Amino acid sequence: MSAKKANLSGELKKYFGFSTFKGQQEKIIENLLEGKDIFVLMPTGGGKSLCYQLPALISEGTAIVVSPLIALMKNQVDAVNGLSSEDGVAHVLNSSLNKTQTKQVFDDIKSGKTKLLYVAPESLIKEDYLEFLKDVKISFVAIDEAHCISEWGHDFRPEYRNLKSIIDKIADVPVIALTATATPKVQDDIQKTLGMSNALVFKESFNRPNLYYEVQPKVNVDKEIVRFISQNKGKSGIVYCLSRRKVEEFAQLLQVNGINALPYHAGLDQKIRVANQDKFLMEEADVIVATIAFGMGIDKPDVRFVIHYDFPKSLESYYQETGRAGRDGGEGHCLAFYDPKDIEKLEKFLAQKPVSEREIGLQLLNEVVGYAETSMSRRQYILYYFGENFDPIKGDGAKMCDNSSNPPKLKDATGDLEKVLALINDTGEKFKSKDLISVIVGKENAVTKSYKLEQNSYFGFGKEKTENHWKTILRQATVQNFLQKDIETYGVLKMSEKGKQSLNNKLEQPFLIAEDREFDLSQTK
Ligand code: ADP
Repeated sequence: MSAKKANLSGELKKYFGFSTFKGQQEKIIENLLEGKDIFVLMPTGGGKSLCYQLPALISEGTAIVVSPLIALMKNQVDAVNGLSSEDGVAHVLNSSLNKTQTKQVFDDIKSGKTKLLYVAPESLIKEDYLEFLKDVKISFVAIDEAHCISEWGHDFRPEYRNLKSIIDKIADVPVIALTATATPKVQDDIQKTLGMSNALVFKESFNRPNLYYEVQPKVNVDKEIVRFISQNKGKSGIVYCLSRRKVEEFAQLLQVNGINALPYHAGLDQKIRVANQDKFLMEEADVIVATIAFGMGIDKPDVRFVIHYDFPKSLESYYQETGRAGRDGGEGHCLAFYDPKDIEKLEKFLAQKPVSEREIGLQLLNEVVGYAETSMSRRQYILYYFGENFDPIKGDGAKMCDNSSNPPKLKDATGDLEKVLALINDTGEKFKSKDLISVIVGKENAVTKSYKLEQNSYFGFGKEKTENHWKTILRQATVQNFLQKDIETYGVLKMSEKGKQSLNNKLEQPFLIAEDREFDLSQTK
């Protein structure tokens, strides 16, 4: 093993020029080379690509890399080919290739030259490709951006759903799935869909201690952003907007204000889009104003701020987008502007979608609202969302958010929590937050009626406090691990071990909460 280790370090140096592995890369690669299925959850910038690129380069045969975006694949192929003096070490296989090009790819694979073959899932089902791939030596399959498999991910691609059966048709080889966005629900979904329940899971902390999180009410937003950027003149930053129109308008507004900004969205002419991206990467433009189309696969280490003009549709998107700040470990300010009306607009938009998509979309939006309105440590909130416990006092980066650097007053809500735990226990741990709150404040709805909850002795016990207060209690009890969201049903609140113990023995420490922040902006506009 040690000889192999020494060897891996040598290969790392030889191909990538790095002297040490990052995080768990080495363990991941060793296990993959031993033939195990692997599941990697690592934040953006953690070094996922190397986890399959290096073993592919040193294995016999070709590794298939499934990736969702053609642009992303092209970047990677160029990068890999740049590592070697030979051409054709990496190829993309898709229908944009003409006959000669496709033959070249096939020839390079047959001759053993090609070590990495990038394909989109929709290409993989093409009969010609399948037939060809069945007959050549495949080293392993890597599934990049594996969250695309899950409807609970922020970027669901139906074509990812059938990957398991396609891979089974091609070869019996190890599979490595990788993602930077995995809530426990998405993680569970990926493993089930890929039949990887026994895979070795490597999860790295999603904590980015150098990023500062801040949410401001969306009032005078144009002026506020101009002021922020002017105070950070010369620094590199991204401003995300939801619509293309807003992107163009706001980029212009920044330009008028003497800020070196350019727009980026999928509706722009390809040439302009690429030119704008390059100018940003080459430091000819300080700020890029963009829709979510910008950022996948962009590796600019010194982005100093990411501003959300509009809140995105999910915390995964928010985290991925903010994750583009401070990749070099330096300063990274993440500033988001929040208005509940924006969320209402997104909800209306979801109303036109099929039921399951709508339900999921609403749940995800609910989490966004929770994050925006919370008074707790934002880092603790978001890391909990990714299945990680974070100590808001001693954890790495504990002071790095608006709420933590300027903590709100805490209130003792021990009595309220005890009653909530008793209610959840008494009603069989089968209700979602919304319905529990109805019971607490004594408001009938279809669910309370069908379960006859009006007859429960707890019905209406908390009616003298606001629904918002109880929402806060439930959210903070979840983040502080008294309650947990059921993975199967998502949203149903169950007791955690800690919750059960507290129920029996009372709480060891007082349950302190900060009321969520009020965001009624109607008076201020
Ligand atoms: P991810 O896909 O997880 O976002 P990447 O694979 O793009 O991350 O890697 C992020 C950056 O880290 C890249 O610039 C890459 O070259 C660098 N990197 C990866 N592994 C190492 C390593 N062992 N040592 C130094 N830099 C590394």
